[in-house]
Amino acid sequence: MRLLVIEDENLIAEGIKLACIAEGFVCQIAENGNDGLEMIHFYDYDIIILDLLLPDMSGHEILAKIRMFKRNIPVIVLSGLNSTEEKIKCFSNGADDYLTKPFSRNELLARIYAIMRRASGHYSSILEIGTLAIDFNNKIVTIYGQEVQLTNKEYTILELLMFRRGSIISKETFLNHIYGGMDEPDLKIVDVFICKLRKKMAKVSGGINFIKTIWGRGYSVKEQEEIEQEHPSFKFNRLKAG
Ligand code: CA
Repeated sequence: MRLLVIEDENLIAEGIKLACIAEGFVCQIAENGNDGLEMIHFYDYDIIILDLLLPDMSGHEILAKIRMFKRNIPVIVLSGLNSTEEKIKCFSNGADDYLTKPFSRNELLARIYAIMRRASGHYSSILEIGTLAIDFNNKIVTIYGQEVQLTNKEYTILELLMFRRGSIISKETFLNHIYGGMDEPDLKIVDVFICKLRKKMAKVSGGINFIKTIWGRGYSVKEQEEIEQEHPSFKFNRLKAG
């Protein structure tokens, strides 16, 4: 999960960043609107946390611009303003949520998780593809109900694949997600993580390969139908969401 916080108040921005890092998210900060828009343009974010009062432009202006070129990216507005008019204006400009300052760390995280679930089309914190299930809240991956023991980086890769199921994720995007633009190693490291992830998942599932390689473009997670085609003898028991 990769977040961008557009906020000029350093204490608030750093507080959000620490909370996000503790959850295993990658979090970047932009101190003004122009920097924020530039970062959104060049990087892929899963959620934007946007302050309304910024030194160079208003949050409303930023929101409108975000909606022009990245339609679907979820935006949580942060504001000291508590008026109904302000909130309505934000929602009609395309905000997904509105949080009034001061706010608690836990409330912000709960809202981030709620948005993640909505964005992935699931109202439960558990996302399933056939027998493969990921619990975003507890960071647990299971196959046939049996836990797959993953390192943080392996988990982050699988979380991104499942969160963006149906799309191809490039190695650059994985690196950005894992390292957040800091001390990024060679792209080849992504292949190494994918290889380890596949082995661990194959061990628990009895040989199923859940991750597809799209040569020259990246990786994506397979849908149940694809897995069933490759493993016709396999019985699939749908796990019930907790
Ligand atoms: Ca501000």
